[in-house]
Amino acid sequence: MLPAAEAEAKILALVPRPTEVEQVPLDACVGRILANAIPSPLDFPHWDNSAMDGYAVRYEDVREASAEQPKLLTLTETIPAGRSPTLPVGPGQAARILTGSMLPVGADTIVIQEVTQREGDGIQGDRVLVLETPEPQQFVRHRGSFCRTGEALMATGMAIGGPELAVLAAAQCIQVPVFPRPRVAILSTGDELVMPDAPLQPGQIVDSNQYALAALVRQAGAMPLPLGIVPDRPQALRAAIQSALAQADVIVSSGGVSVGDYDYVDDILAELGARLHIHSVAVKPGKPLTVATFPAAGGTAPLYFGLPGNPVSALVTFWRFVAPALRKRSGLATGWGPTFVPATTRAALKAGGQRETYLWGRLETTPQGCEFVLAGGGHNSGNLINLAGTNALAVVPVGTTLIEAGATVAVIVVGA
Ligand code: AMP
Ligand code: MG
Repeated sequence: MLPAAEAEAKILALVPRPTEVEQVPLDACVGRILANAIPSPLDFPHWDNSAMDGYAVRYEDVREASAEQPKLLTLTETIPAGRSPTLPVGPGQAARILTGSMLPVGADTIVIQEVTQREGDGIQGDRVLVLETPEPQQFVRHRGSFCRTGEALMATGMAIGGPELAVLAAAQCIQVPVFPRPRVAILSTGDELVMPDAPLQPGQIVDSNQYALAALVRQAGAMPLPLGIVPDRPQALRAAIQSALAQADVIVSSGGVSVGDYDYVDDILAELGARLHIHSVAVKPGKPLTVATFPAAGGTAPLYFGLPGNPVSALVTFWRFVAPALRKRSGLATGWGPTFVPATTRAALKAGGQRETYLWGRLETTPQGCEFVLAGGGHNSGNLINLAGTNALAVVPVGTTLIEAGATVAVIVVGA
């Protein structure tokens, strides 16, 4: 049995980074991973502009302004956002300027309107009193000060969310180079499994893993290909895996990796020429876990994860080992692994001490910090009912049998 951290490292080493690139319209690329660095086509800001509502002045003219000795400047024009200034600001002059407006030629400093007093009737050509000396160049956002033309706006491997979309849009990048999503075939093995709309006969259960795994695959940034239920017959399993190989980059099956009489997955993988890298990992739940690679047929070598069938084991091993692999396979530059967060556990956490043990529940943020709330009910790998609401797994390390209530525990964040 491989220790969990070694299994994680071994799996990540098997995962190739994507090489192909596809162009996706800006409004359809949320959740995708940038496949090329984006050089800025423009200076940001595009021109010197004002950060405040006020007056664009020449610093020289106002360097000794005060409430007692205000400086009187003649207004040239008002510059609203979206319009170019039409007049330069000469000695003794100022322009009315609004946030984001272009700075007129000659002006180098913004005086905020709160430290000024308007003279005259408010129409163009009247005057303004400056009552305070500003800092030189105050409230001017200089052209190119955020990013210059040709500099990288964003790096390869960045996940595209709201802020990244804003940057891409601002840079007028309307077709975005992204990596193709990895295609992940999902197979459920077991003669006992039926679809949710089938009447249940004695001994049958619903193939719930298929739905959960498809959702988690999607959350990990990949494309699920649910291929349905495969009976516990070697020929059927062989045909299903071959069909999955023809359409997917990664295959995830659940069930059939244990040592039972009908657990054929490892044998069929070997028959199909796959290389078995992992057969079991020292984790609970989820000890039987098969990881294999197929020889590359042209492109990159398909990766196979044979997860245990028990619903909790299947999901826990997915979160712990498959999701990081999919994140790397999707092209994400960093942050593949599970996120471990220290939290105070409200309840005592018990484990056998032989295997890294995961107890499911919720991570809650309180003013005192993060707290782990253990799910109520049995922590049994066959009990999927109390998994609902899970957003975190508390990790009890090998060699530890008890983490007392109130003590700190490492928690893996597993999504909403
Ligand atoms: P196995 O790993 O094939 O021995 O399955 C272990 C347990 O998980 C058995 O009780 C199965 O009935 C259950 N199981 C296997 N596959 C699924 C599935 N797709 N959905 C729900 N339960 C499953
Ligand atoms: Mg089975």
